[in-house]
Amino acid sequence: MSELVKSIREKYEATLDAIAEAARRSGRPANQVKLVVVTKTQTLETVQAAIAAGAKILGENYPEEGAMKIQSLENFSAVEWHMLGHVQSRKAQIVAQRFDFMHSLDSLKLANRLNRFCGEAGRTLPVLLEFNLGGEESKSGWLAVDEANWRELASEVQQISALANLQIRGLMTMPPLGAQAEDSRPYFQKLRRLQEFLKTQFPQLNFDELSMGTSADFEVAVEEGATLVRVGSAIVGPRQYK
Ligand SMILES: *Cc1c(COP(=O)(O)O)cnc(C)c1O
Repeated sequence: MSELVKSIREKYEATLDAIAEAARRSGRPANQVKLVVVTKTQTLETVQAAIAAGAKILGENYPEEGAMKIQSLENFSAVEWHMLGHVQSRKAQIVAQRFDFMHSLDSLKLANRLNRFCGEAGRTLPVLLEFNLGGEESKSGWLAVDEANWRELASEVQQISALANLQIRGLMTMPPLGAQAEDSRPYFQKLRRLQEFLKTQFPQLNFDELSMGTSADFEVAVEEGATLVRVGSAIVGPRQYK
């Protein structure tokens, strides 16, 4: 085993252990939580090493970069590829054709385009609705800071649920960057309340997945009900910006 694989494997397994421990603390079965290894900006060599180290789900943020990696590694392993980043409408086709799961659906316009391209590709794309709970301008997602306004989200959720080639599976959020992991807890709790609200509004739909938590705060996210955590730097090291 190469040094790179060995080093990633140690961190990958330590992360799985920490997830299991956090699940135990909150009385949840550890197998309710899936680990997405975030490989955006990492080289193909690093992605390949992550797969060799045991990663089952890989997360990418940029459609072209992700599609290139997916194509290059197609015959290497049957991992799942998740889109995590904001996708511009003109890149929707790449996501519809290449990715297995989308965490970052953030507008009706994008939903319509993804639906059209999925139809053309003969695919169905499972999606999470991304919510902006901190109100930061820089963040994507439907603005859902004020609980009193949650009802206003219903019409777009309804329209997305009617799209034949998209399948709503749950919710995602990226809280404001805090000084410590605990700072994220109120946002994770809020996403869970929003999940309950949407379940009540749309009992026929599925909102079971909660994608929340990164290297900085995934243990808190698991304590608050995350079913998907998105961990990058803690497993594959600092991002490799060119
Ligand atoms: C980059 C990214 C992550 C991973 O962040 P780390 O700090 O490297 O763990 C998770 N989620 C999203 C949406 C990201 O863009």
